Amino acid sequence: MNESLTPVGVFGGTFNPVHYGHLRSALELCELLGLDHLALMPCAQPPHREAPDCSAEQRAAMVELAVRDEPRLRCDRRELAREGLSYTVLSLEELRSELGPGCSLSLVLGCDALLKIDSWFRWQELLELAHIVVIARPGWHFPATGPVADWLAAHRTDDRAVLRHRTHGHILVEELRPLAISSTEIRDLLRAGRSPRYLLPAPVLDYIEQGQLYR
Ligand code: ATP
Repeated sequence: MNESLTPVGVFGGTFNPVHYGHLRSALELCELLGLDHLALMPCAQPPHREAPDCSAEQRAAMVELAVRDEPRLRCDRRELAREGLSYTVLSLEELRSELGPGCSLSLVLGCDALLKIDSWFRWQELLELAHIVVIARPGWHFPATGPVADWLAAHRTDDRAVLRHRTHGHILVEELRPLAISSTEIRDLLRAGRSPRYLLPAPVLDYIEQGQLYR
């Protein structure tokens, strides 16, 4: 057991576009878990959903604008640099080899992602590379039976300190401030000619307006 691990985290998502639900959750997790930083990692080619209507480059640019004044949050562009579908396990392998075996690494996911995790490429290997921190959201429930339920039961901890003392292998569920904001709703507002102002950072909305995105 290494007492001096400074944990770091990576938060996967489409971020189409990034909004205050993502950003506030990310900052709260940095503080609750004592993370050195949490990197938002836009998925370039999502394996499990249709190609987003704006490019990975644009989605990453919006994340960069959103985090530029908060040193604890970053944008990780590695999935844009890789060919093929953006499998999270491949990103975690890269991160693990960059950080070394002694660093605590956590992958942050929403409950919606957790429910489908058994369809992810090499999902059983995720915990060999990182911890998983799940953002509990109102209205979402964890499965009671099946492979994801068994996996949760085998690896779940309620002790945040585990993330500082172990490098990988545990699942922590955190209830954060609920903010009923989704990228889908922001895209729908824009398509309807309505304003999503105050649901996302002003520089991100300026970028959307300048590029005429989601029209
Ligand atoms: P969409 O509406 O396009 O599905 P989204 O708003 O859910 O997008 P994603 O990029 O898919 O955004 O989200 C990345 C992760 O962030 C997901 O695992 C999701 O559960 C989580 N997340 C999304 N919105 C919020 C929110 N308001 N509060 C906390 N977590 C969120």
